[in-house]
Amino acid sequence: MNREVETQVQGFWTKDGAGVKLVRVLGNSTVRAFDPFLMLDSFDSDNPADYRAGFPMHPHRGIETVSYVARGKMRHRDSMGFSDTVADGEVQWMTAGAGILHEEMIPDADRLLGVQLWLNLPRADKRCAPSYHHISRAEIPEVAADGSTVRVLAGRYGEATGHQGDYLPLNYYHIHLDAGAALTFDTDPAHTAMIFTLEGAVQAGQTPVAEKTAAKLSAGDALTLAATDGPAEVLFMSAPPLGEPIAWGGPIVMNTEDELREAYFEMEDGTFLEKSRASVEQ
Ligand code: MN
Repeated sequence: MNREVETQVQGFWTKDGAGVKLVRVLGNSTVRAFDPFLMLDSFDSDNPADYRAGFPMHPHRGIETVSYVARGKMRHRDSMGFSDTVADGEVQWMTAGAGILHEEMIPDADRLLGVQLWLNLPRADKRCAPSYHHISRAEIPEVAADGSTVRVLAGRYGEATGHQGDYLPLNYYHIHLDAGAALTFDTDPAHTAMIFTLEGAVQAGQTPVAEKTAAKLSAGDALTLAATDGPAEVLFMSAPPLGEPIAWGGPIVMNTEDELREAYFEMEDGTFLEKSRASVEQ
């Protein structure tokens, strides 16, 4: 059965970090419908003043952040001592797990274009060991068909296999469609599936989806995308829903209010990292 568009969300302009202008497409109000996708921030700017302030050192717990930099650069530094930059078509996949501090700075570029996705961690894995993985271009298979190219940023697409996360099995594709082209592909029927129109509009199933719009798809095992109004760059994400309670406060996403309060106490009294390390599951 083909998936169709169920809900469309365009989000709102906001500032985060030390003053980065972005569009918060998914957030608190979409968390039930889009489970396990918690947040989606969209960046698109040709003015470095919009993002130069970056996201200075801040904590996370209970989630994974997957940042796709289609154009431009993003520099990461964290409390485990890792430092890394992704650029132009690469991905940084950070598992916050039990707890991490990191900094995300955005060097000047002609254009910054990308998204940051927050993937929830299952209850059983919320206290996993934090980790960081740079998905380089060499690790991203490209599958070309008539008028389309699919870059497999993570997971599986047909026979192609990209980076596999350790926790939720995310399928994440950057799909290019030439003007007038269409593509039908299989999607895992057990997954929540969505698209985000990074550039240009697209028709998903029977429904037009404007540029910079997230669309949650109905249940099914296939999706047809068509570029009916010029070329299109579309992101497709799918992962199994968790169906677990969510207690979300800023950069921390746990299952109960008690766990959330605990994290906030630890941040206030300076024991966040120490307690995080101690709680990593063996
Ligand atoms: Mn962060």
